[in-house]
Amino acid sequence: MRSHLLNDTNAEHYRRSVIEGVERVAGKLATIGRPFTGVRVDDLAPLIDAVDLDKPLGDSTAALDELEDLYLRDAVYFHHPRYLAHLNCPVVIPAVLGEAVLSAVNSSLDTWDQSAGGTLIERKLIDWTAARIGLGHAADGVFTSGGTQSNLQALLLAREEAKTDSLARLRIFASEVSHFSVKKSAKLLGLAPDAVVPVPVDHDKRLQTVALARELERCKESGLVPMAVVATAGTTDFGSIDPLPEIAELCEQFGTWMHVDAAYGCGLLASLKYRDRIAGIERADSVTVDYHKSFFQPVSSSAVLVRDAATLRHATYHADYLNPRRAVAERIPNQVDKSLQTTRRFDALKLWMTLRVMGADGIGRLFDEVCDLAAEGFRMLAADPRFDVVVEPSLSTLVFRYIPAAVTGPSEIDRANLYARKALFASGDAVVAGTKVAGRHYLKFTLLNPETTTADIAAVLELIAGHAEQYLGETLDRAC
Ligand SMILES: *Cc1c(COP(=O)(O)O)cnc(C)c1O
Repeated sequence: MRSHLLNDTNAEHYRRSVIEGVERVAGKLATIGRPFTGVRVDDLAPLIDAVDLDKPLGDSTAALDELEDLYLRDAVYFHHPRYLAHLNCPVVIPAVLGEAVLSAVNSSLDTWDQSAGGTLIERKLIDWTAARIGLGHAADGVFTSGGTQSNLQALLLAREEAKTDSLARLRIFASEVSHFSVKKSAKLLGLAPDAVVPVPVDHDKRLQTVALARELERCKESGLVPMAVVATAGTTDFGSIDPLPEIAELCEQFGTWMHVDAAYGCGLLASLKYRDRIAGIERADSVTVDYHKSFFQPVSSSAVLVRDAATLRHATYHADYLNPRRAVAERIPNQVDKSLQTTRRFDALKLWMTLRVMGADGIGRLFDEVCDLAAEGFRMLAADPRFDVVVEPSLSTLVFRYIPAAVTGPSEIDRANLYARKALFASGDAVVAGTKVAGRHYLKFTLLNPETTTADIAAVLELIAGHAEQYLGETLDRAC
């Protein structure tokens, strides 16, 4: 079994194994005609159940052959132009190259003595991101596993900076369409069950600042403490961007921590055309960015940035065996001092390779393309009487529903749209998402693939209409 260790005697084995894996994936890219095969849980579960993990196959070719049936054949492929569902991007090749390098070298970014140059590369990317945001010279941050962790860490810092000893009195304000990780964070941080105050949104799904002002006022009057306002720069469901400058004013007025959740909208930091849509982000105390959403990076790649590096001390603990206090005095950069994680992947390398090969403009151009595609898709939907579309896109999301010509009741329309989504998924021809708007079922395209065309959008809309009509036809038949 020693022969599987990656070391100086095994370079050839390493090379052959990785190339073989790369060949399989490359073969898939070339041959899949659909984003999904439509496989069902009941089809795959028995195959995976049947694998005896205590009886290894012994070589990677056999394991890859097996993996073909268990995973590769039926995986959901995000690079396909008709994968339009969630916030998953096709990935750029320099980042995949970075991934291959980082997992083989396997640095751990917690301490300098486990990563050396990796630490400095991560720090430079944090500085780069903070500068793009405009956070100022005292800014800092750290890579995280994702937006969920970034939001948690930001809110931990906000809690520690809040001026009260009573956790029960702390309140967080976030729009009613903010990400659920805000509520999870509040729970993990020991806040009251009603600590997250939902603030209503306007027609465009942007937080209403008049309502926020009222809630902040009410909070103070009732002796509670406004711990943080979470402004979402790109809501998961609609891509809507909260009015950041107005929110910054209110945060200043009430002495409240301003967190901007730009997990999705961070792509605008590289945009050549639409950077102004997140103007005001530079006034945040903390910012969440998910490079694995709009920087075309493989999962995971995310960061939390802060205006004041000193606030990161709230996550600092020292261990004599790892990051002793004296290392700080000796100016040894131990990133674990800033992170909720200990052992931590060198995810930063993927972004590094991306910027070194393509540059920020290369990423920004790709993101601009999907924003333009969404704008075009919005025009198509708005002009098509069969569809109802909500919210003109600020990023790359379209939320809409099919409205049958033969007018039926609202619950029938709900069911037709639900059916269309499921039927489309089962066919594998395209993958779309769904959500609710004012209690009704809608469909959603999250457009993150610059290769998707308006013709793809038109074709998928036809498929949706076809499935919905088929459902309505069948229910009519049953009723007769
Ligand atoms: C996706 C998302 C998150 C969570 O990020 P993960 O990387 O999935 O953990 C948080 N906030 C917003 C607005 C998101 O879209």
